[in-house]
Amino acid sequence: LKPVAALASTATSYPTTHDKIQPVENTPYFVDNKFVQSTTDRFIDLRDPATNNLVTRVPQMTDQEMRAAVASAEKAFESWRGTTVLARQQIMFRFVQLIRENWDRLAASITLEQGKTFADAKGDVLRGLQVAEAAIAAPELLKGEVLEVAKDMETRTYREPLGVVAAICPFNFPAMIPLWCIPIATITGNTLILKPSERDPGAAMILAELVHKAGFPEGVVNVIHGAHGTVDFILDEPAIKAISFVGGNKAGEYIFSRGSANGKRVQANLGAKNHAAVLPDCNKNHFINSVVGAAFGAAGQRCMALSTLVMVGETKEWLSEVAERARELKVDGGFEEGADLGPVISPESKRRIESLIESAEKEGATVLLDGRGFKPEKYPDGNFIGPTIISNVTPDMTCYKQEIFGPVLVCLNVETIDDAIELINANEYGNGVAIFTRSGPTAETFRRNIQAGQVGVNVPIPVPLPMFSFTGNKKSVAGGGANTFYGRQGVNFYTQLKTVTSLWQSSDVVAKKAAVHMPTLQ
Ligand code: NAD
Repeated sequence: LKPVAALASTATSYPTTHDKIQPVENTPYFVDNKFVQSTTDRFIDLRDPATNNLVTRVPQMTDQEMRAAVASAEKAFESWRGTTVLARQQIMFRFVQLIRENWDRLAASITLEQGKTFADAKGDVLRGLQVAEAAIAAPELLKGEVLEVAKDMETRTYREPLGVVAAICPFNFPAMIPLWCIPIATITGNTLILKPSERDPGAAMILAELVHKAGFPEGVVNVIHGAHGTVDFILDEPAIKAISFVGGNKAGEYIFSRGSANGKRVQANLGAKNHAAVLPDCNKNHFINSVVGAAFGAAGQRCMALSTLVMVGETKEWLSEVAERARELKVDGGFEEGADLGPVISPESKRRIESLIESAEKEGATVLLDGRGFKPEKYPDGNFIGPTIISNVTPDMTCYKQEIFGPVLVCLNVETIDDAIELINANEYGNGVAIFTRSGPTAETFRRNIQAGQVGVNVPIPVPLPMFSFTGNKKSVAGGGANTFYGRQGVNFYTQLKTVTSLWQSSDVVAKKAAVHMPTLQ
């Protein structure tokens, strides 16, 4: 092992500009509470999306190194599972405090590696931090049930940890998604192998440092790196009992089926195409602000981005005002004062998004606001696309059928709320949906009939806070959405129920014959 003393950034010193980083250091991995440089000769270049300057190289770790990380987690499990939930809770209190103290540093790492604005990156950290805060309620969440089921007999349930579990994360929330997993997996007594996205692992590395400082014992959280090879290692490693995956459909469906076939529990949140139905009776100004924020914030790279507008009746006349407000957004490097949205993750992603806009034009839609080719003055080499609005879209168009995952809003017109419900339900994704209306009965009809897992009524991005669970539906989850992230259901995912029935007789046994029939407990 080649240990590294510490990460390059610290709680008080971290990048706050997109200036070139010199010298560029390779990202270490994290095992037994130590940062270690991989001995691999295969690295993935990580470039700042605002400039395409090289930030770091992420190792495709060797199998031997990954196996050692799993062995460390297996060893740690033997003692970690025996700690009390109250002891684990104390560590979680410290972890929460350390995340707060390193909030800006975490956000800065996200802005540098992922591209989102610093203010938005702070939100990324917060939504993860809230999961850690909610995990502190574990003593309550882990309580079992008990019932006297017969004379002198009781049945009680225990929630036991699974063992070593793994998390495979996407690029778009470099702090939030690791924090959907680290707190719930560990407070329930498991040990965790975390694989951040190879495109922006910096925030996860800072979290690893905080894991150590908070007092997690060695091996309870190990962070490994790589792309497909690392995923395949996780899928086939027998010691790993469960996998949490968040990302796109291609990877997620593969991970769900191969992981399940290998006998592992898998929770998998996948892609999306989130619709908003807009009714003429809504608060127009609130609707415009909501949709512009939710379609273009984070450059549209949120799984709950509001990427599809369904304009009911005369609301289609409002589109020019939506475009006006979208035009006012400042597209710039994420560290720049007043930036509203930053670049998309990579040049390939930019090309893919631009080709989807082009396909809309070719298929007969109208590009009402065109962000293609936009270059902020200071960042001519970044992966920028300005807010783009495509109107007169129909469900057969490529831009409607595919998840664009960029700052592009596609707009369809319908006549009635029933048409809107029918159109939205015909879409294969079902992550989030919103309705804008002042009518309670209309909202209620929509809520009852819509086939999406997370519904916002005048709320554009209805991501549930962590005392609830993230409940995507249809093609936005694998396995029918049975295993959802965080909340009570997240605790269920990371624990195995054990049900114990005991008989403690208060008087001597007098029967001389063994009973052979099934007891009827009358
Ligand atoms: P991605 O699927 O490309 O990558 C996710 C992870 O899977 C990464 O760690 C990557 O290394 C690995 N991976 C990628 N392709 C793989 C393959 N073919 N085989 C094995 N492993 C593979 O996703 P992304 O581009 O990082 O993230 C964006 C996607 O994630 C979008 O589709 C978005 O909707 C989705 N997402 C969903 C949620 C949700 O909760 N539903 C949340 C965030 C992001």
